[in-house]
Amino acid sequence: MGRVDGKVVLISGGARGQGAHEAALLIDEGASVMIGDIRQEEGSAVATRLGDRCRYVPLDVTDESDWERAVDATLDTWGRLDVLVNNAGIVDMTPIEDTTREAYERIIAVNQTGTFLGMRSVIDAMKDNGGSIINISSTAGLMGVPGVMAYSASKWAVRGMTKSAALELARYGIRVNSVHPGVIDTDMVRDPNVNSHDADAACAKFPIPRIGRPEECANMVLFLASDESSYSTGAEFVLDGGYTVGRF
Ligand code: NAD
Repeated sequence: MGRVDGKVVLISGGARGQGAHEAALLIDEGASVMIGDIRQEEGSAVATRLGDRCRYVPLDVTDESDWERAVDATLDTWGRLDVLVNNAGIVDMTPIEDTTREAYERIIAVNQTGTFLGMRSVIDAMKDNGGSIINISSTAGLMGVPGVMAYSASKWAVRGMTKSAALELARYGIRVNSVHPGVIDTDMVRDPNVNSHDADAACAKFPIPRIGRPEECANMVLFLASDESSYSTGAEFVLDGGYTVGRF
């Protein structure tokens, strides 16, 4: 028996990275998964690879009507929606003094407003049967990190929005939690146009001295998607190799 048998999941940003790993694990554990992403080719390829219980829908998380279409497509395909993973995100590694207003607002639009629109769009579909909303924040939503101020602002917001939503939505049986990955081995960290730092060297200093794996984020999301986490809401789930624990 799978840990999320029969559950229907919508994952934003599921065309690659952590989202694609989450889709694969949740399907292995019995769920059906709708992947929403702006990367049409990669999203469709992931859906084809994962088989019948996976579909792709075009979704720009900053667009309200895209969210409406993604939720409708999920309900049309499987007749219910139990879990939303607000996973889509972008980063911009620029010092404050060089950050333009446009660049700042773009990060907020995707990471913060996108998460708000995602949560709002699934409430009706989850109201009757309850559900689980999983908001992917970051360790940059738990502490200050130099060089990513807009990103950090958006991820702290996700952490706060999660708690407010958890309080509001408890009456519908909808749980809302945030996940805080440290440094995870995906394109976001490896793309030299996005990140010029040596991620492996940085992570070698952590209490668990290595970079995190997207499979490890998928395990956390599986726990929160499943009924095993039935007593958790408004909480922060950290996976960071001990990065935020203290001085090391
Ligand atoms: P990634 O870049 O591999 O994946 C992000 C996905 O989001 C991509 O498929 C991208 O197309 C999609 N996306 C971007 N803008 C979108 C939009 N407007 N609408 C829909 N989809 C959009 O990165 P990842 O590491 O898999 O990131 C997943 C989440 O984890 C993000 O929220 C990120 O901020 C967070 N995170 C990542 C790390 C890390 O070290 N990789 C650490 C902490 C938190």
